[in-house]
Amino acid sequence: MADFSPSALSAEDRALADGVLGGNRRALAKAITLIESIKPDHQQRAEALLETLLPHTGRSLRIGITGVPGVGKSTFIEAFGLHLIGQGHRIAVLAVDPSSSVTGGSILGDKTRMEILSQRTEAFIRPSPSSGSLGGVAEKTREALLLCEAAGFDVILVETVGVGQSETTVAGMTDCFVLLQLPNAGDDLQAIKKGVVELADIVAFNKADIDPVAAERAAAQMRAALAMLRPAAARWQPPVLTVSAIQRTAIADFWQTLLNYRQTMTDAGELAAKRRRQARDWMWTMIDAGLRRRFREHPAVHGALPELARSVEAGAVTPAAAAHKLLNMLNRYF
Ligand code: GDP
Repeated sequence: MADFSPSALSAEDRALADGVLGGNRRALAKAITLIESIKPDHQQRAEALLETLLPHTGRSLRIGITGVPGVGKSTFIEAFGLHLIGQGHRIAVLAVDPSSSVTGGSILGDKTRMEILSQRTEAFIRPSPSSGSLGGVAEKTREALLLCEAAGFDVILVETVGVGQSETTVAGMTDCFVLLQLPNAGDDLQAIKKGVVELADIVAFNKADIDPVAAERAAAQMRAALAMLRPAAARWQPPVLTVSAIQRTAIADFWQTLLNYRQTMTDAGELAAKRRRQARDWMWTMIDAGLRRRFREHPAVHGALPELARSVEAGAVTPAAAAHKLLNMLNRYF
């Protein structure tokens, strides 16, 4: 069998790996900075570090969470995180926010948003990587998630505001995907239209304290919508809860619902299957991205592409013929 054993680490990186394994938050932050670096030598070191730590990953409950800005995600995560710490857990909060590369600053995972939680040693909060495409941001977040697991965080939340495809991306790297909703019909319709409801394993209506009756009504409507969207035979029917992040009510119920989900899906072998599928998909995503990059950087392609693209635009060459021609150039040098 081929040897896939990890490359040797330098003494410095060995110490970093040990720091991460020891649960040291500074070492963890440093390791994440290393994986986020775009310098080629850093990338090589990061790859070796991840390979070394890989056997220590996989032992957390990975939770994705989404909801429009203002729905109360940070308030909720703070309440939920403190509840979990009270139960002896260690919680990491990561974010996938592709918009941060546009606005230049991360709007998610910002420490000041979860002031009390961020001061606890049992919590680790990391903003979204702030550069690159959604694919790039997602890749770094996936790797950061593994590092958090190696550091012994046993509950990991990956938060997103749902810009573009980011919800699908986060659902693709977590065990359980949670949709936070506001108790008004407009918010429901948005989420249904965007297909986010289909991704949800649990839906929670936040701010139920403002108008409990309205929140219950919204929850009932969502249950009806979900019943139509989900095949009745599915192992898990997404529960719909009402919560108040600010008053910290129903936070324990929410955690119990997550535990039920994990138990049900584990017993059915579906959680392990989901992770296997996610790992394979991740590999293919990386292969696709790598091939695209190599294709664009290939000297012959690089030389011919602009002119061929213009010819396609002008209708002089068909898109298929141009694609074939460019792809064939790879055969010569690959
Ligand atoms: P995010 O943008 O989704 O992270 O939302 P925030 O957590 O920043 O909350 C937005 C606003 O809603 C803040 O003013 C919060 O105090 C408020 N808020 C959050 N959760 C609740 C809740 O359960 N009830 C009420 N009444 N207000 C809430």
